[in-house]
Amino acid sequence: MKVFWDPIQLSHSPQFFLQRGRVRQNFEVPERAEILLAACNEMGLEINLPGLVDTRAINAVHSANYLAFLSDGPTAWNAMFDGGSEMVPNVHPTPEMFNQGAKPASTIMGQVGWFVADASCPITATTWPSAFAAASCAIAAANNVADGHPTYALTRPPGHHAYMERAGGHCYLNNAAVAAEQLRLLGAKKVAIIDIDSHHGNGTQGIFWDRADVLFASVHGDPNGYYPWYVGHVDELGGGDGFGCNINLPLARNTADAGWLEAIEYLITSIKKFESDALVISLGFDASEHEPLQFLAVTEDAFARAGALIAGLNLKSVIIQEGGYNKEMLGKLLRRFLEGFLSA
Ligand SMILES: [Zn+2]
Repeated sequence: MKVFWDPIQLSHSPQFFLQRGRVRQNFEVPERAEILLAACNEMGLEINLPGLVDTRAINAVHSANYLAFLSDGPTAWNAMFDGGSEMVPNVHPTPEMFNQGAKPASTIMGQVGWFVADASCPITATTWPSAFAAASCAIAAANNVADGHPTYALTRPPGHHAYMERAGGHCYLNNAAVAAEQLRLLGAKKVAIIDIDSHHGNGTQGIFWDRADVLFASVHGDPNGYYPWYVGHVDELGGGDGFGCNINLPLARNTADAGWLEAIEYLITSIKKFESDALVISLGFDASEHEPLQFLAVTEDAFARAGALIAGLNLKSVIIQEGGYNKEMLGKLLRRFLEGFLSA
């Protein structure tokens, strides 16, 4: 199995994080990627740079204004009087404002609140190069999969909480959506995305909400008690042409292997019915029983089983790295999932 990875992704090193009213150290750290890379090397997987890629898929899933904000925002922020070292929002437009014609501001403070959903996504000058390199890995992996080889994109920062024009939940560019779009550009008529990160992939759902050519199928912790709090419910089925192409299976706190695998089997059955030509796997490891902000209680054996079950779909598959924050477990969980996937 080929791996796509670019060391530029290590340069993004967010510090600020807000949790339960306390400012804490952000836990989406470069070391996560170093651990995953070490696991790939231990498995003897071939590591490749993405190189220069066709960026049409990035421009298709993100707005031009948002991409300009990510790349140019830090310059404006650093020129601001008495600013901190990272761009962090402290005000957001509300639904009432949207209903009454809210518009993005031209000043950087107003833009940060518009384009960033929460306080987990600090932005500096190193954020854009890292996020762009991760999205490039997703594109390169999709290109490789088009020839029939399953491929792992070691994407960090992760992506599935990023909307068309909004960062959130440690995510800036939606790598899974970019991979799905690239597979469409390469000729796949329909693409399915299975998201097994323990958080709902709200950004991916949002990007493909009204599209019938991409199925989004997610198993995650119940948003009533877990990030992203407001979406990820079972009655979110997609809109317009995309109605029926969005499947959410929220699970109760402390759901263990049996319930998690049963949900994955249900998603696999739905993907078979959808009859897609290709698959994107949003692979997060935070469903682990050892996760620091533990909600689900999944063992490493179940990650191996999940890999085998998903590989059984026998579709051209791009594996995209999402979350997972237990540095002791990340390498082992990646190895178990990939070994399960490759054994099927
Ligand atoms: Zn997650």
